[in-house]
Amino acid sequence: MASISTADLLAAWERGASQSMTRRVLTLLATVYPELSDAQLLSLPIGQRDGLALKLRELLFGPQLNIVAKCPFCNEQLEVGLDVADICVEQNTLQHQPFALAVEGFELQFRLPDSQDLLHIEAVDSLDAARSVFFERCLLSATYEGQECPVDTLPEEVLNKIEATMSAADPQADVELDLCCPECLHSWLAPFDIASFLWTEINAWAQRVLNEVHLLAQAYSWREADILAMSAARRRYYLERVLQ
Ligand SMILES: [Zn+2]
Repeated sequence: MASISTADLLAAWERGASQSMTRRVLTLLATVYPELSDAQLLSLPIGQRDGLALKLRELLFGPQLNIVAKCPFCNEQLEVGLDVADICVEQNTLQHQPFALAVEGFELQFRLPDSQDLLHIEAVDSLDAARSVFFERCLLSATYEGQECPVDTLPEEVLNKIEATMSAADPQADVELDLCCPECLHSWLAPFDIASFLWTEINAWAQRVLNEVHLLAQAYSWREADILAMSAARRRYYLERVLQ
């Protein structure tokens, strides 16, 4: 992973601002993994992509994550602190694709979903259509007694089994936080999406940096590029002087 300058991260944020969430996380990863082509990034299984996004988050803002959640039972807002290591799944063996599965007499072959699949799913507007697109893309073959079966003829039970096998093979793609409400003691599993979490943080960071540039440029007539080339500590020092 390459280090990233303030100006480069800001440029990635600017490109990502008009993109979908799936594209945004790839735009961010492309800045620190210049050796990976767009096609390679697009075809990373979601868990691998999210593992890289967690590493990027740690590089940019450190390992401590502060998560805000709302209790689904009493609406109490809670803040949970956790470490990147708590949700980083170590995968010792690289999964070989495609996967084969036999269930209820069906012989199935499938691959793990990647960002290319998510871009296709984002383009449809209903959950049912999204699920169809998902299986049509990731299910490579389905046969029953040697006969090919179209996706829409497969029983729900078979589709659920495929999804469960995918999750087990790529656990980083389905991170769930075990939360408990301090008010009513209700406990639940909340999905955690590093892509949107990281984007929200980078968005707030970018607003903060641009505001600093605005104040310093106004006070000293410095160029934007020169202000961005300073360390955060140096920018903060001058800003304190300006705001005194
Ligand atoms: Zn509660």
